[in-house]
Amino acid sequence: MNQMIYFFGTGQTEGNREMKQLLGGKGANLAEMTALDIPVPPGFTISTEVCQQYYDEGKKLPQQMLDEMETNITKLETAMGARLGDPENPLLVSVRSGAAKSMPGMMDTVLNLGVSPAVIDGMAKKTGDRRFALDVYRRFMQMFGDVVMGVEHHKFEAAIEDLKVKRGVNLDTDLNADDLQELVDTYRIIYRNQTGEDFPTDPREQLKKSVEAVFHSWHNPRAVKYRELNDIRGLIGTAVNVQTMVYGNLGATSGTGVAFTRNPSTGENLFYGEYLMNAQGEDVVAGIRTPFPISHLEEDNPEVYQELIDVRLTLEKHYRDMQDLEFTIQEGKLYILQTRDGKRTTHASVKIAVDMVEEGLISQEEAIKRVDPASLDQLLHPVFDKNDEEKTEVLTRGLPASPGSASGRIMFAAEKAEAFMKDQIARAVPDEKLETVILVRVETSPEDIGGMAVSKGILTARGGMTSHAAVVARGMGTCCVAGAGDIEINYEQKTLTIHGKTFNEGDWISLNGSLGNVYAGKLKTNIPELSEPFHVLMSWADAVRKLKVRTNADSPKDTEVAVRFGAEGIGLCRTEHMFFEGDRVNSFRRLILVAEEVKNLREEIVLEEGDRKAVLEDKLQKPQALYDQALSELLPLQREDFTGIFRVLEGRPATIRLLDPPLHEFLPKDPAGQKEMSDLMDVSVEEIKRLVNSLHEFNPMLGHRGCRLGIIYPEVSAMQVRAIIEAALTIHREGIEVNPEIMIPLIGHYRELELQRELAEETINNIASENNMDQLPFKVLIGTMIEVPRAAVTADEIAEHADFFSFGTNDLTQMGCGFSRDDAGKFLPDYVKLGIYEYDPFSVLDQDGVGALLRLAVEKGRKIKPSIKLGICGEHGGEPRSVAFCHRVSLDYVSCSPFRVPIARLAAAHAALAD
Ligand code: ADP
Ligand code: MG
Ligand code: MG
Repeated sequence: MNQMIYFFGTGQTEGNREMKQLLGGKGANLAEMTALDIPVPPGFTISTEVCQQYYDEGKKLPQQMLDEMETNITKLETAMGARLGDPENPLLVSVRSGAAKSMPGMMDTVLNLGVSPAVIDGMAKKTGDRRFALDVYRRFMQMFGDVVMGVEHHKFEAAIEDLKVKRGVNLDTDLNADDLQELVDTYRIIYRNQTGEDFPTDPREQLKKSVEAVFHSWHNPRAVKYRELNDIRGLIGTAVNVQTMVYGNLGATSGTGVAFTRNPSTGENLFYGEYLMNAQGEDVVAGIRTPFPISHLEEDNPEVYQELIDVRLTLEKHYRDMQDLEFTIQEGKLYILQTRDGKRTTHASVKIAVDMVEEGLISQEEAIKRVDPASLDQLLHPVFDKNDEEKTEVLTRGLPASPGSASGRIMFAAEKAEAFMKDQIARAVPDEKLETVILVRVETSPEDIGGMAVSKGILTARGGMTSHAAVVARGMGTCCVAGAGDIEINYEQKTLTIHGKTFNEGDWISLNGSLGNVYAGKLKTNIPELSEPFHVLMSWADAVRKLKVRTNADSPKDTEVAVRFGAEGIGLCRTEHMFFEGDRVNSFRRLILVAEEVKNLREEIVLEEGDRKAVLEDKLQKPQALYDQALSELLPLQREDFTGIFRVLEGRPATIRLLDPPLHEFLPKDPAGQKEMSDLMDVSVEEIKRLVNSLHEFNPMLGHRGCRLGIIYPEVSAMQVRAIIEAALTIHREGIEVNPEIMIPLIGHYRELELQRELAEETINNIASENNMDQLPFKVLIGTMIEVPRAAVTADEIAEHADFFSFGTNDLTQMGCGFSRDDAGKFLPDYVKLGIYEYDPFSVLDQDGVGALLRLAVEKGRKIKPSIKLGICGEHGGEPRSVAFCHRVSLDYVSCSPFRVPIARLAAAHAALAD
């Protein structure tokens, strides 16, 4: 069996930073720092394998581990010259969790382990401070009771409060040694009443129970939730670090703090952190007293400050990344208790990566790899409109804990925020904008993460820049204003009062997390300015990536945004969105009204002769005129749309898809809408109802849509092709390059494409001759979406008629997996939880199934036509894992929504670097 416990202490260190999987991040780095001669209190780490084995063997601590623990305790006792449970010279330890991936505050820690009444006497004698010794004891009883035995901590807190009232004092520190003795006795009774056992005085029993408690905390609900939210998978458990205690609460020359080697919010290369003198453990993070900024330590203790600065430099040089460290000062001596790669905002992540290249610490490639593509999303979120913000009164200012702008409805409880969002999601129709939430709390705690994750912004009354709310918000990329001391929160009445102004649950407020400002109501937003380091990093990414990145855009405005974000063309322009704008839908509705009649009459006319034919031709005239009129109304409008888009694109290619959705989507379903249409078009409501019914389909997604419309109503396709080409001609005449690509949707059979292609080519030739040209002065590509499985399987036949394929992976997933896009929400989340699918296949491409169809189509298509252009335009085009897949099957480009363009660019670079 493998070694189960690894020692760290000067000259005897067995672990190192490479051993994170086995020792957890904390344990591996404690060992690494010890080896670097950084002052770390010695201890040992129980490996993550033991945690796994503990669960495998029905929650029993393995005998081998207990044996190794004895050896390591002896080693530690020798190193420290103190012994566990020895009244003369007691060794006290902390028992700390720590998994391979950092999960701040999610698992448990027990401090001050090893105390007992006898030890307290010894400590009191040794330090000459009986009050301190008793304070340590009561802290331990409370933590052990809470963490190990599940005694609710408010039971202990109530006892302190009672005692303070009895003594007529305000602060814990006003209680003297005798008071604390009384408190310890009360705690003992509470513990006994709650657990039915006596508080354990044997340090080994305390230790074993605490180790088990840390193992248990691996599966506590908040840790499970944290792993789920952060997509942490494949870890076997937590390690346990048993470490010599050092005391930050030994009077005025002691203290404790946390620091980042650079600013985690902005990325600035400045030492950043907070500390409290005469404080222990989590006092800083818990936001109980407001801490001092780290620079202030220079006044409190210049030597320790200098030492800390040296540690900062050593760590950064060694880890070549920004570090987040915990330290304690015991009577003027500095100890480092933890270091890890610091969590940071995306803004900081980009700046730090670029700065570190300039400082010669890392290479450009490393810098690219350091920034998570998905996290770029944070930089692209809209920010408050400057003018609007300047005009709005600042209600109060807190700490700018996590940047960004957020408006939302006030919620005072995490569960409430979760319920509010869940309820909306359940009722929302696709594409609907959801209302947002601002979570308002006195302070947050790890139980709140679910609610924090769904909130747009977080506002707290207490806590510093390293408080729970601040750290978690930065990690999530959620805007946060922390420690806004002027706000009053009343949880009972669900009110927030700021300088006399009262807000209720559900009222709107706005936060600027970069400035720390709080505003009433909702503010206007704009697209953010991107920073210089962002552009530098992206230019490095662009230089290494092989995939091109296009955008899905339907309007000049979207196109403009996408081009600013680096889009190299349009991969999908959905023309139907244009049909809905303003009153143009009415033209199209008129067309739908007569379309079927026109089609039927024409078919009959072909079969008839003589008088009957003449009668029918007569009958056709009126509907045909309406049909033609609708088309001629739509033509200039569409032409204008395309002109605008081509102008913005300045020669970048644009793939324009012909009409895709089923016709019923364009008709009003509600009585009021039908009445309105009836008045406007001079047809009866009954007639409209009849039309809606006749267009009704049981499976509209598999119904009369896509090229199936263009084949039955070729004039619609012809009109759209004409609009595209005439727009391109206009732009060409303006001296601007154009590259139109006409895309036929929903092809399943090559004949469909052949027909639509003939139609398009005929239209193009007509336009050319109308303009006295032999051929158009620019190239027009005609291609198809591959989104029906049959098309993927017969891609070779289809390729004969296509200049390009664009994989419509939304429909390809729907039809390939057989999951309705509209209803899969009912069971897919459970499928993912059960691990049937690793990810929701509509968000992350199902590489084994849908991806295999795609790969097949790529092979078949290229075999017939090596020059065929290949891209993807489903939602997956902006999802990093799917982008990596597209790179591996060597598509030419991915296309995604404008705000995902930078994500795709960086993801494509990551994929290229992974080769
Ligand atoms: P987390 O992973 O939640 O940060 P830690 O194991 O880091 O939990 O412990 C929380 C805090 O307890 C630390 O930030 C530190 O202040 C305190 N602590 C842990 N071990 C010791 C120790 N050996 N001596 C003094 N304080 C300690
Ligand atoms: Mg910690
Ligand atoms: Mg589709």
